[in-house]
Amino acid sequence: MKLRSVLGIALMVLASSAAHARDVLVSDPAAFKAAVKAARPGDSILLADGEWRDFQAVFTGIGTPDKPITMAAQTKGKVVLTGQSNIRLGGRHLVVSGLVFRDGHSPSREVISFRRDSKQVASNSRVTEVVIDGFSKPDRRAEDIWVALYGTDNRVDHSHFEGKTNAGVTLAVIRPKGQGEANRHRIDHNYFGPRPPLGSNGGETIRIGTSEESLSDSLTLVERNIFDRTSGEVEIVSVKAGGNIVRENLVLEAQGAFVLRHGNGNLIERNIFFGKGVPDTGGVRVINSDQTVRDNYFEGLAGTSFKSAVSVMNGVPNSVINRYHQVANARIAGNSIIDSARITLAAGADAERSAAPVDSRFERNLIVGAKGQDPFRAEGDIAGIALAGNVQSMVARPLLGKGVEQREVTLERAANGLLYPTDPALAAVGAPRDLKPVTRGEVGARWYRGNSPEAAFGTGATHPLAAGASLAEAAADAQAGDTLALGTGVYDVAAPLTVRRRLTIAGAKDAKPVLRVASSLARIAGGGGLKLENLAIDARAAAGEDALIAVGGGAAPNYRIAFDGVSVRGPGKGRLDGIVMAPGTFADDVTLTNSDFADMGVVVLATGEQEPKGWYPMERLTISGSRFARVGMVADLLRKGNDESTFGPWFAMTRSSVADSGAGGASLRVSGAQHSDIAHNSFAGSDGILVIHSVGAPETRIASNAFAATPAPRIEELVWKGPPRGVIEDNLVEAQP
Ligand code: CA
Repeated sequence: MKLRSVLGIALMVLASSAAHARDVLVSDPAAFKAAVKAARPGDSILLADGEWRDFQAVFTGIGTPDKPITMAAQTKGKVVLTGQSNIRLGGRHLVVSGLVFRDGHSPSREVISFRRDSKQVASNSRVTEVVIDGFSKPDRRAEDIWVALYGTDNRVDHSHFEGKTNAGVTLAVIRPKGQGEANRHRIDHNYFGPRPPLGSNGGETIRIGTSEESLSDSLTLVERNIFDRTSGEVEIVSVKAGGNIVRENLVLEAQGAFVLRHGNGNLIERNIFFGKGVPDTGGVRVINSDQTVRDNYFEGLAGTSFKSAVSVMNGVPNSVINRYHQVANARIAGNSIIDSARITLAAGADAERSAAPVDSRFERNLIVGAKGQDPFRAEGDIAGIALAGNVQSMVARPLLGKGVEQREVTLERAANGLLYPTDPALAAVGAPRDLKPVTRGEVGARWYRGNSPEAAFGTGATHPLAAGASLAEAAADAQAGDTLALGTGVYDVAAPLTVRRRLTIAGAKDAKPVLRVASSLARIAGGGGLKLENLAIDARAAAGEDALIAVGGGAAPNYRIAFDGVSVRGPGKGRLDGIVMAPGTFADDVTLTNSDFADMGVVVLATGEQEPKGWYPMERLTISGSRFARVGMVADLLRKGNDESTFGPWFAMTRSSVADSGAGGASLRVSGAQHSDIAHNSFAGSDGILVIHSVGAPETRIASNAFAATPAPRIEELVWKGPPRGVIEDNLVEAQP
């Protein structure tokens, strides 16, 4: 009797809970709103398959650990939020799943926010199998965060984030001022796909906290994610809180490093970094107290300075909260550092950063390569770092002696894809054998792969175009990657072509078509990019008020411009600039190859970013095998400010000639670039080269150039107090008449 009554109650509970666990299919925002209001624990609100344009969802409710309230796609991957869309969560035990954000951007400062507003956060909630792909604000300076984690005990997993091109962290753990509570968030099994360099601070992929609350623990776990070419800025993961664990992530060709920027007692372990020699690929940077960096694997990292495979920074004595606290009690042990350019200790030591690391240990690490060079650098006092049990493959003049044994090391690639020493005596040195790199199949949304890479030049259709035909019409009709193949003869360009897609205009090498330009050749807009090949551009009649190619304010980030085998004749020295970029635009590459420029203004005018925030207009400017005569300047490239978060710009000019050129004392001015290589050029009867260093650790080489009736090249330092850095060598400077 008693037994039957207990059973009866159990059945009743089951029945009542089943009655409340409903799937509610909704097909418009009003129905969604009503369903949210009516939802009970265990319910799933399913968005109908299709496009949800301009959908700003507020998803609130109180679920239970066993019966969360779910917002999901009717079919995973078939619900696409476009236009001006976002989601705000508030409450507890909520789950969002299966949605795709594409073809738009958030109207607010966040795409997915774990809070409804400043009064209601979400806790114990989860975002899983969600995709945010290219959902970037069109002006790269307009800032947002794609996933903002407020509250506590939330999880973001098996999601796919790719192609963020505007300012702001991809995924941030927010710890508002005065709310330094433990968050215990979990960020795992996500695919963080390519994020191109932002050209400013604010391009981190993950940030945990901010400096204000950095002395309290967040206890966030970042585990088994892939970071694939997440190259937004120098910090891939920026830790600004205590007690976090960053474990077993796989980092592929990503420029930047995991940075223990603020906060103490963090653990970085069992991560695997492959740089493949890509410039500025780094590993882990240590700042603050009680940090542990153990059992990690670093291979092929080309970064130096703050982007070294391992760097341990100098601090600022009695540092304010947002500068650099001294490194104390750091433990860096059992890591393999293979074919990597640098391990930098006391990094960044200068007059301000004068507090050397103390009470720290560097133990049982294995250091092999690169190419027999010693990767160790000490930029200050390293007596506070005890070295023991490390093994380094032989180098000619090792920086470190005691605690770093020099010996022959032979490596063999093991079944897990990582290199280990063949000598069993080295079993306890370097990364452990049981590392298991996370695979692509384990991360991200199983049903989603990103769009194919943006169409490259010359990959589309080729459209022949006879002389006399309208270039403007053909350019307007072209699809991404198309080529307009011009015949011999003259093409009149009465008004600038509007280029909205990646376009190539090409002539034949031996019979270059002539483009007769009345005022300006082209305006790059939207998703444009332009390659010119084997053309003669006659702009002698241009008034010179416009640019030959103007990059408009709305041009897509990370566009490209290339000249190959092109000659340009302008209206006269100092008139008609060549390529001019509007502020807020950012080119991956501008390339001038085997081309001639005569009688014009500044050929590449890239000084539009005048705010001293570290923004700059292009990642790379490459000039080779080209000739400049009677031009205002070859290039005027500017990056202002003293922000240290970026890698570029890169500038290279090789095997080119400059004659009778210059304005205001320079024929080439490169200011704020991080890498400049100027070699094997000749300058005659021109103003000189001026390279200005303002920020970071710029690398400048001016070598093997000839200067006739041209002043010797100069390097100026705006911030650095010592003598100008950089290499000026093997140049031939003829006495001036
Ligand atoms: Ca940063």
